[in-house]
Amino acid sequence: MLITRKFEFSASHVCAVDGASPEENRRLYGEAANPRGHGHNYVVEVTLEGEPDPVTGMVMDLKELKDILNREVVEPFDHRHLNYEVKPFDTIVPTVENIAVEIWRRVEPHVDGKLHGVRVYETPDLFVDYHGARA
Ligand SMILES: [Zn+2]
Repeated sequence: MLITRKFEFSASHVCAVDGASPEENRRLYGEAANPRGHGHNYVVEVTLEGEPDPVTGMVMDLKELKDILNREVVEPFDHRHLNYEVKPFDTIVPTVENIAVEIWRRVEPHVDGKLHGVRVYETPDLFVDYHGARA
């Protein structure tokens, strides 16, 4: 069974490769390379996979999951400039792809091996799905 919790955070970012010229970054990322940054209202769906506990009827205590997501993702990311305030985005470009990987990395140690997927919407019509590194 899959169970998904959805949440949002708002953050700014600049998409630019360190050491690349402004022209090269503009070619790679377009407007997203604007050095002063721009914001998104990110929508995240974290999906767990497991069987409901025979006693509690739950795959995982959803209050605990909410607390983990708040602590590991919302509090550190919300209303931040990702490049300047949230590691590892001081050295890794905070594309929506890399944001999904980082959310996986932060959540995975806390959910007993049940993490199935992380979906991150950067805009209503653009999202990525991440299911962990391929073995
Ligand atoms: Zn952007």
